[in-house]
This record gives sequence, C-alpha cells and structure tokens, in this order.
Amino acid sequence: MEYKRILLKLSGEALMGDRQYGIDPKRLAEYAHEIKQITEKGVQVAIVIGGGNIFRGVAGASKGMDRVQADHMGMLATVINGLALQSALEDAEIPTRLQSAVKINEVAEPFIRRRAMRHLEKGRVVIFGGGTGNPYFTTDSAAVLRAIEINADVILKGTRVDGIYTSDPEKNADATKFDFISFDDVLRKGLKVMDTTAFTLSQENELPIIVFDMNKAGNLLKVVSGESIGTQVNL
Ligand code: UDP
Repeated sequence: MEYKRILLKLSGEALMGDRQYGIDPKRLAEYAHEIKQITEKGVQVAIVIGGGNIFRGVAGASKGMDRVQADHMGMLATVINGLALQSALEDAEIPTRLQSAVKINEVAEPFIRRRAMRHLEKGRVVIFGGGTGNPYFTTDSAAVLRAIEINADVILKGTRVDGIYTSDPEKNADATKFDFISFDDVLRKGLKVMDTTAFTLSQENELPIIVFDMNKAGNLLKVVSGESIGTQVNL
C-alpha cells in the first residue's frame, strides 16, 4: 500500500445517494464495503464527515438565522452522519470509534488526539464528527486539521467527480482533468478544491490531497494502492 494512514473526507451530500436529503442506507453500506477493502490491507483509516445533507450553516444564516446558531446545527448534523456511518461500518464488522469536537459524551467520545491515534494503531476506524468544533469553519478545514494532527500521509477527498478539471466538466464539454497539480497552480488558476482556509492549511503543512470519485466501486483501494486515478494536489 502506498499510504499507511489516510484521512478520508466524505461530504454530507455523498451520503444522500439518489435522495434529495438525508441518508441513503444503501450508499452507506457501499462505503463501508469500500472502506473494509483498505482496512483489510492494514491501512489506518480516519474519516471526517460533512453535514450538508442535513444542514448547512450558511444556508440557515441566509434565511435570517444567527450564523453561529446555524453553524452549531451544522456541526450536530455531522455527528448524526457520523453515527450513521459508524453503524454501517460496524454492520460490516469494522471496529469503529466516533469522536466529536463538540462534547456529546453519551453519544460519542470527545476528540482526544492521542486516543484517536491509539485507536488507529489498533486497527479501528476513527470517525471525527462535529467538524472543528468552531462556527465559521467547514468540514474540509476539519479534515485538514485532523489529518495534520494525526500525521496522516494524505487526505482523500471522495466526491462524485473523478478529479480536478480545467473547468466544470458538468458545464463544459472540453474541460480536461489534471492527474497532478501543484497547490500554487490550483490557486493561480482559481480552481475549487476545498475552501481557502482548508486548502492553505494543507499547503502550509505539505499535506497532499487526492480528489477522486468515491462512488465507483474499487476506487478507494486503487487510490490507496498508489494507482493514479483522480487528481493529486501536491507541492
Ligand atoms: N460546521 C461548522 N464548523 C466546522 C465544520 C462544520 O460550523 O468546523 C458547520 C457549518 O455550518 C457547515 C455544516 O457544519 O455548513 C456542515 O459542514 P459542511 O458544509 O462542511 O459539510 P459538507 O459540505 O462536507 O457536507
């Protein structure tokens, strides 16, 4: 395996499957199956999950809600998704721990870095819920932060497109995909990989990001094996 410890970022929307909102149990089971393929190879897996399928702070604030209040709702949404994912992973017999950045002790462990690393060493998948625990951040920022904290080798951003393109492939037929691109080029070309806070945190800490299509069976294993699918962002 090319990577020993990875941080997988899954957006909340990824969990919707074909639905308009909420969680699709079939999609969750598929993800659990994909994740099992790499844990069986001894890869240590940490996951940050988004909440956009349930609630997004910016959307709440645009409807007149206080932004901090709305972000708290968003953070709790990520804990709900984390619980659903934990349940799917356990159904697939993958030992899993959920750690939350906001204290919710009856439901999830608090985020404790050393404990998280211990779980990983013991072969447990660690799901980080609650984002960073702060309003005005995204789960992409949480993903980069946690990846750096636990010394992950790479961030794998599982999306529904198969990489980073010169322009939006859903709008432009002549858009072409990058196999590799530097952090500087992403910024120079104004491409959208993660929000700026998350992206620069990754760049400053020299943490590579791979964007790939998580919905294609076998792709996660391929990426972790070092096969060149998706787009790798590196120095
Ligand atoms: N959120 C937050 N702080 C964080 C992470 C998330 O306040 O550190 C809130 C924010 O309102 C965000 C929502 O949780 O809109 C869901 O996260 P995100 O939008 O990143 O989810 P995704 O797009 O990955 O589904």
